[in-house]
Amino acid sequence: MIVGIVGGGQLGRMLAHATIPLGLTCRVIDPSPTCPARVVAEQIVGEYDDYAALAEFVRGLDVVTYEFENVPVETAEWLNDRIPVFPPPRALAVAQDRLTEKQFLQGLGAKFPRFAAIETRDDLDRAVATVKLPAVLKTRRFGYDGKGQVVLRNPADVEPAWLRLGGRPLILEELVGFDREVSLLAVRDRGGATGFYPLIENVHREGILRTSRVLLSDDPAIGQAVAVATHALHALNYVGVLAIEYFQRGTELLVNEMAPRVHNSGHWTIEGASPSQFSNHMRAVAGLALGPPEVYSSAGMVNCIGAMPNPELISGVAGAAIHDYGKSPRANRKVGHITVTAPSREMREERMRAVEKLVVS
Ligand code: AMP
Repeated sequence: MIVGIVGGGQLGRMLAHATIPLGLTCRVIDPSPTCPARVVAEQIVGEYDDYAALAEFVRGLDVVTYEFENVPVETAEWLNDRIPVFPPPRALAVAQDRLTEKQFLQGLGAKFPRFAAIETRDDLDRAVATVKLPAVLKTRRFGYDGKGQVVLRNPADVEPAWLRLGGRPLILEELVGFDREVSLLAVRDRGGATGFYPLIENVHREGILRTSRVLLSDDPAIGQAVAVATHALHALNYVGVLAIEYFQRGTELLVNEMAPRVHNSGHWTIEGASPSQFSNHMRAVAGLALGPPEVYSSAGMVNCIGAMPNPELISGVAGAAIHDYGKSPRANRKVGHITVTAPSREMREERMRAVEKLVVS
């Protein structure tokens, strides 16, 4: 069976890698001839709206998935007219726009920070009055890793923020004073069976994920997170891994956003769980049996932002595994990650501290 992946970034690379022990082969389409996935999969070099390249990509494939949520919906639908695309293109359409995503999940009972949709400068003034400052102004589409976002702390910040982001559909969100950020990775197969990884605690800096840690499987927040994810999976007739990020305030979980794909906060699953999020995503997409996620040990992850650390030094930290995406160094770019596993949470913290000292960011 040949699985196509739209996008050959690091997620495409880790997905392609996970298909090898499943007996599947992979083909990716990506405009960059030096994309990270090229070392593990056949690549069609082409833009995502180049239909000649897409026709070449789709030839002989059995099923298609994607590794980023900004795949044009028209492309996903064009592919889906020829062979099955999972997760379904509707999941992409919902997740590409922060407003439709909130409306969709609110309809399923999820809670959100206060927010208001904005088209005009007057809308922004009205939104500031209802949402209240401090707040975050975000573009509705194409934002990631804190891009397309401005924090408004006092009324003098409103006009400069409008000058920077105005002119496209926006959303103003309350700046949540959260206790922690958490995420849940859920998976659903073609027959509707579901699986869930434990809740993960995530630390961001400048809008970019820095570290992830597996929380205890009996954490009280897990029930709420699983309920929202279950409703979302079934409502979308979803197939594959779905990630939902939350702000936790006391016992309350407020949704930040969802991603219809494997997620950076689940990279620890390569060494810390079986099957990994990548394997389970590909199992679901290819119509194979899901593996109920088993977590082996206390696991965590440190992202490498900008540049990779010295692999020799990382190899000196027990339980650390280095994943270099093969990308050239650049400020604020995710170029790799280090998974840390340990027999106890205390040892994980010790090992993560040792890794963080070696990771320049
Ligand atoms: P996003 O791209 O929307 O996931 O934002 C990236 C990160 O910025 C989040 O993980 C948070 O750390 C922070 N952030 C975004 N929106 C808010 C908010 N409404 N309140 C507090 N922090 C936020």
